This record gives sequence, structure tokens and C-alpha cells, in this order.
Amino acid sequence: MTVAIWWIRRDLRLHDNQALHQALCSAQYVIPLFVLDPHLIAHPARSERRIRFLLHALRSLDTELQRRGSRLVVRHGDPREVVPQLVKESHASIVVAEADYTPYAQRRDTEVALVAPLVLTPGLTIHAPGSIRAETGKPFTVYSQFARSWWKLRQPVLTDLYPAPMQLPPLPEVWSDPLPHPSGPLPGSFPPTEAEARRRLSHFLHTRLASYSKERNLLDGSGTSQLSPYFRFGLLSVREAWCQAQSYLENPETAEGARAWLNELVWREFYHHLLAAFPESARLSMRAAFRTLKWPGIPSHLDAWREGNTGFPVIDAAMRQLRTEGWMSNRARMIVANFLTKLLLIDWRHGERHFRRELLDGDVAANVGGWQWSAGTGTDAAPYFRLFNPMRQAELFDPTGNWIRQWIPELALVPQEFLAAPWRMPPLVQHAAGCIIGRHYPAPLIEYDAARERSLAWFAAVSTSTPNRPRTRKEKG
Ligand SMILES: Cc1cc2nc3c(=O)[nH]c(=O)nc-3n(C[C@H](O)[C@H](O)[C@H](O)COP(=O)(O)OP(=O)(O)OC[C@H]3O[C@@H](n4cnc5c(N)ncnc54)[C@H](O)[C@@H]3O)c2cc1C
Repeated sequence: MTVAIWWIRRDLRLHDNQALHQALCSAQYVIPLFVLDPHLIAHPARSERRIRFLLHALRSLDTELQRRGSRLVVRHGDPREVVPQLVKESHASIVVAEADYTPYAQRRDTEVALVAPLVLTPGLTIHAPGSIRAETGKPFTVYSQFARSWWKLRQPVLTDLYPAPMQLPPLPEVWSDPLPHPSGPLPGSFPPTEAEARRRLSHFLHTRLASYSKERNLLDGSGTSQLSPYFRFGLLSVREAWCQAQSYLENPETAEGARAWLNELVWREFYHHLLAAFPESARLSMRAAFRTLKWPGIPSHLDAWREGNTGFPVIDAAMRQLRTEGWMSNRARMIVANFLTKLLLIDWRHGERHFRRELLDGDVAANVGGWQWSAGTGTDAAPYFRLFNPMRQAELFDPTGNWIRQWIPELALVPQEFLAAPWRMPPLVQHAAGCIIGRHYPAPLIEYDAARERSLAWFAAVSTSTPNRPRTRKEKG
């Protein structure tokens, strides 16, 4: 009797799962294992919302496994002890897991590999981090160069994908801890099942891909796939999403949208590659000029930003959506990140930490990448003089005002012409709209033009220091 352990981490799916496939090819019995790691579950910076999503998703995966003749084995504890213990109990000859590249995951897997026969497979990204390098052998730090090389590689095709097995081998005799009950329901917007992920992908490709280039910036998120939580937990294979979207390149009506969407998947790859090459970028600005300086922002402004009480409707709507749904569109993320770092001059790491706690799709690579890009502290970042005008952004990307009104009910009756800047309402209009500024809705935290001038001067002074990037693991030897 040969036994393999399929150690599930960020790959909560049966379709196109390279780790599961390898486990099935390696042994007669396969144990689907999930380790509830106290480092992640009880960490002070943990996200309650993501833990809830994870527990619901594990339940759903267990149901699917049982339908196919298997079941989920759950163990609580440190994987460095739990995995070798299960190897011993079950006489497993191999443990297969999808590789993960966060600094914590890399340390954990290196240590587990010392005490268990661990084999890592690709799957988190299409091309494994480290596999794409410039001619100099160094990792790319600029997206456009990375993407050019990326598109030249052989991309997966439908016949590369592994279908979900109809039947799974039975389990050997092993016990399982009970799966804890999620501490509460999830908001209805993101049902955590593999079936929902697949339904969304197919619905998006059929109905929204053609208009993606034009509508992706809409603040209500209706123009994008809203698949990020599913990619985050591996409820959907990125390889599969790629293959399906690629087929739309052939149709002239959908080609432009398909190209733009596929490029977003390449951004996702880029940030995973970047984090694997520069693990310290999770904590430190990539540009040396920003490493040691103290950002001059005011702490109470950070609280107002977090709570959605800045007095700028586009910022407050986004932050309230984040608090309620655990999600916001990419455009909204860029606007609120630009506002925090470039107008309030608050260290990007405060924003990154808040996002990481609140986002259902919170992912170290994409989050740190997005924040460093927005703050101008990354190697390939938005230039410091690229400041978003929050009023203009609201008018451009929430043209009906419905999204702002949805998230800020105090502004429901404010006439459209004042919605982006309600402090401009004359007193009589404030009365008529039932929204007195300073009483029902905050006055703006800053005066935009003055804050803009101050920011440009501060960033110009910092940016005259030599831009630099941290050294890669290889360069450090
Ligand atoms: C400050 C900031 C923080 C961010 N934090 C996260 C995060 O923690 N987790 C996360 O998944 N994304 C993050 N992003 C990237 C992006 O905003 C989200 O992936 C996107 O909004 C998800 O919506 P969607 O699934 O509808 O995207 P779509 O437009 O449909 O794109 C499809 C997929 O491509 C990937 N993707 C799209 N844009 C990006 C991008 N700019 N960078 C990396 N991957 C991308 C996502 O996996 C997304 O699901 C962040 C962006 C910014 C500016």
C-alpha cells in the first residue's frame, strides 16, 4: 500500500490542481490534509474575515471530496510537527503541496522539507517565481520588461489542464480534528465555493470581457471579474482562467478586453515574482530613499481614512465598502492608496496593513506591490507627481453617483453636481438634502490644493536622493 499526503494550503480546488494530480500519480491512497496553523489562525494581524472565508471554503471542499469517495483530514498545530507526524502515522512516502512564495511560507516549507518527504508543485502562478529573468540573470523589477518576456514564453493550453477527478481513492485509517465552525456568516457577495468561482469566470468571460477595457475602472466593480478572493485561496486555477480567456483573443469583438484582462493576470504574476526575489519588500520600501525617513502625516488622519470619514466621498465610499464587504475595485484601491500616501503623507505600510486585515483577497505579493506602486516607493511605481484628484476621480468613474450613495447614505439626497465635493453645497442646499456638512457628514480633512502643493514639495525633496532597489537573495550570496 502506497500513501501520499496532499497538503492543501492556497489551492482549495479539485479542478486543475497540480499538487493533487501529482499525489494521485504517486500513490494508491491519498490523504487530503489541511493544517490549521496557529501562526496564521491566531496571529495578532490575522484577518477574521479571511479566516471565515477559509473555513467556509474548507467545508465546501470537504463536501466535494466526500462526494468523490474521500474526505478532508484536518489537523491543528505547527506544520513542522503535524506534517511529519502524519507521515509517520500513515507511512506516507510523499507529501505534495503547491509552492507558495511569501517569506513565511518559504521558511516553513524549507523546515518541513528537512523532516518530511515534501515535493512542491507549481500552480499558484502560471510561471514559477524565479523562472523569468533578464539577460543579466537578475529578476525583472519593471513590469513592462517582465511582461514582454512573459508573453514570449509558452503559455498553457486547455489540454495541459487536469480535470477534477470523478472518483478519489479511499483514505487509510487516519483521524481528523473537527473543522472549527466559522465565527459568523460571510457577506453574500463572495460565496466561497469552487463551483461559484467557475460560474463567475464563465459569466464574466461571456458577458463582461468584451467591455473590460472600457469598464474596468468603474468604481462599483461591475466591469471586472471580482475573482480575486477565488484566486487568493486557489478556488480557481489561474492556469485555467488564462486558457479560457485566451480563446477570446481570436474574436475581434473580445480581443481587446481579453488582452487587457490577461495582462492583469500578468501583473499578478509580476508581484509574486517580485516578492519571491525581494522578500524584504514586504516590510521595506523598495526605493532606498524611502527606507529610513519618517513620513510627516498626522495619526488622526489615518483613523479618519480607515473609518471612511475623510469628508471626500470617493474615499469614504471605498473605505466603507472595504469594511463591509472586504473588497473594492482596483480603481478604488488606487485612489485611496494615492490619497493616504500622496495627500495625507502617511507611510504606505499603515495602509498595507489595514488592507491586509480587511481584504478578502488580501495577499502579501499583490498588496505590497499595489501599495509600493501607489506610494511611489516601488522600483516600477507611479511617479511621485501622479496625484489623483479625488473629486475628478468620482466624476469620471462613478458617473451616476449610485456607488457613492450606496456606501454613504448620508449623501443620498445630495444633488449630483455636489456629490463629489459636498462641502461646496450652499447652506440652503445642505438643508434641502438633509446633509449638514460637519454634522451629518464630515467636512473635508484637508484642503486639496494646499495638500497637493505640500506633497509635491515633499516628494520632490525625497526623490532627489538616489533611487535604489534592495539587493536580491542571490546578490547577497
Ligand atoms: C493598493 C492596492 C492593493 C492591492 N491589494 C491586493 C490584494 O491584497 N490582493 C489582490 O488580489 N489584489 C490586490 N490588488 C490588485 C487589484 O486591485 C485586485 O486584484 C483587483 O481589484 C481584484 O478585482 P477583480 O478580481 O475584479 O480584478 P480583474 O480586473 O478582473 O483582474 C483579474 C485578476 O487579476 C489579478 N489582478 C488584477 N489587477 C491586479 C494588480 N494590479 N495586481 C495584481 N494582481 C492583479 C487579480 O487576481 C484579479 O482577480 C491591489 C491593488 C492596489 C492598488
